[in-house]
Amino acid sequence: MTFIHFQDVSKSFGQTRVVENLDLAVEKGEFLSLLGPSGSGKTTILMMLAGFENASSGTILMDGERIEDLPPHKRGIGVVFQNYALFPHMTIAENVAFPLQMRGMSKAEIATRVKTGLDRVRLGHLGDRRPDQLSGGQQQRVALTRALVFEPKVVLMDEPLGALDKQLREEMQLEIRELHRRLGLTVVFVTHDQGEALTMSNRIAIFDKGKISQVGTATEVYDHPQNAFVAQFIGETN
Ligand code: ADP
Repeated sequence: MTFIHFQDVSKSFGQTRVVENLDLAVEKGEFLSLLGPSGSGKTTILMMLAGFENASSGTILMDGERIEDLPPHKRGIGVVFQNYALFPHMTIAENVAFPLQMRGMSKAEIATRVKTGLDRVRLGHLGDRRPDQLSGGQQQRVALTRALVFEPKVVLMDEPLGALDKQLREEMQLEIRELHRRLGLTVVFVTHDQGEALTMSNRIAIFDKGKISQVGTATEVYDHPQNAFVAQFIGETN
């Protein structure tokens, strides 16, 4: 079932068109990766979905409703970016609680959500620590928890593992996959790493200069590249 639908969406910054006539449907519960070189428009697509940028033209539907006029916090979307920036002077539990407090949620409800969220990523015992007392992978899990604490329907991730070393990265890939499955989330995941897209996604959309070059399952894209750009990009080693 189509959950998110970009219909003929374009975006320009000044004279430069960075997303061009995008038609893309994201299915409910799917893990879709946007894969492509730096500057191909992937982040801009997430920004428009999250409501941090407006499309220059076209329509974005979620559950069949246009979302252009909804402010970011009304879209039911959680975001995790590479520079996840936890607040250094707050404890881990306070970091997770902060966005909930900003919405005026009751103390009891906040406590329950923080506990459930941190337990889910096996950090329940570290709630009283400060971010600099946690490893990079643990900090990334806190960022993930913060994105999930509103129980979003969709999670957008922009190179969330880019700053981690190889082993941690692989651990976190498994963990994100597991959360995706367990919570039935719809995930749109931006990466320029084809190996990461291959192992994590139900489908991959490959971007070239603001346009989709090919979209399909990993097998479809890898075994049957539709054009020279995809063949070349997939063939490159990182
Ligand atoms: P990707 O995520 O694939 O690396 P981006 O969506 O970040 O690509 O960027 C696509 C193009 O849009 C780049 O050329 C980038 O410089 C430009 N761009 C992105 N955001 C802005 C902005 N706020 N103002 C002007 N240009 C931007």
